[in-house]
Amino acid sequence: MGDILILVESKGGGLEKMTLELIRGAEGLAKELSTGVSAVVVGADTAPLAESAAAYGLNKVYRLEHTLLQGFQPDAWVGALEWLCKEVSPGIFLISHSFVGREVAPRLAYRLNTEATTDCIGLRIDPADKGLIRTKPIYGGNAVAIVKTEGIPQIVTVRKGIFEPAEPAATRSEVVSMAPPLDESLLRVKSLKTVEQEVVELDKANVVIAGGRGIAEKEDFEVLTDFAKALSKTHGRVLIGCSRPVVDKGWMSSDHQVGLTGSMISPDAYVAIGISGAVQHLVGMIRSKKIIAINTDLGCNMFKVADYGVVGDYKEILPALIKKLEE
Ligand SMILES: Cc1cc2nc3c(=O)[nH]c(=O)nc-3n(C[C@H](O)[C@H](O)[C@H](O)COP(=O)(O)OP(=O)(O)OC[C@H]3O[C@@H](n4cnc5c(N)ncnc54)[C@H](O)[C@@H]3O)c2cc1C
Repeated sequence: MGDILILVESKGGGLEKMTLELIRGAEGLAKELSTGVSAVVVGADTAPLAESAAAYGLNKVYRLEHTLLQGFQPDAWVGALEWLCKEVSPGIFLISHSFVGREVAPRLAYRLNTEATTDCIGLRIDPADKGLIRTKPIYGGNAVAIVKTEGIPQIVTVRKGIFEPAEPAATRSEVVSMAPPLDESLLRVKSLKTVEQEVVELDKANVVIAGGRGIAEKEDFEVLTDFAKALSKTHGRVLIGCSRPVVDKGWMSSDHQVGLTGSMISPDAYVAIGISGAVQHLVGMIRSKKIIAINTDLGCNMFKVADYGVVGDYKEILPALIKKLEE
């Protein structure tokens, strides 16, 4: 079986955190398969990004460079990746479950006469036949499917936050420049411009302060914000998260939601305030390094997973904590 291949995505000129997570995930799978991990960088000026990717000790970093690959042109990207897969025959192709990944993966699978499994939250190797076993939520998160497919490459998109980001390695990867044969006739859809959307990136926070249905009023989230501000003086980036009922009430936008149908995060600390700890919430924050719960109900699930807990009303606890932090 060929290497495990990763599609590199960039942000602000550097590597997207999701790409680093894919590298870490691929390394684990590659060990079990006794194979290597390679990456592909696509674009019109790929040298800087390829150099960044080469710092992660991969087997090879393929540079697919062409003027038609400028920005994100889905038809050209799919054409170039199809060409690369035929050239290098990866056994597994890991792609982030991002805007780009969702656009590219199923179309690529169709072109290569294989299957794509999207939005995976777990990947492991079947010891029996070395096939890739994927776990993914289905029916709006009400069930989890375990999927195996037969086509090669095994193409999957992976949800963010499933793996820890990889760290740079001591050895640099070989960078291989390639010019895929593309022409204008491929482009049936053209990307005209990219509009950056303001979203709360909970996965980039050092600490997440999350409020749940136990927060009585929308206005009470202000005290969570004050707490976040006080904490950010000593603890880096502190962002506000929430459980699903808070989004359902329209108090916060869905990018603040933590859980199965929200973000999967692993901050240094997660403070759950008025959140009971339903399994759909826990799955999104259980990898946090430290969990701190503030809840009136000692019997709630959140206390079972918490490292530290305060049994009490947030209306009393939070002002006292803020005062202490300010001191
Ligand atoms: C398909 C599906 C997907 C879902 N996806 C998600 C998801 O992604 N994320 C998510 O969060 N949920 C999700 N849910 C919903 C989930 O099942 C729970 O309903 C939800 O997480 C409960 O939110 P909560 O803990 O804030 O509310 P509750 O369970 O109502 O808990 C409120 C808590 O607040 C405490 N409390 C009350 N007053 C105070 C006070 N004054 N001070 C301190 N504590 C107080 C209570 O003791 C209680 O523990 C999903 C459900 C389904 C069916």
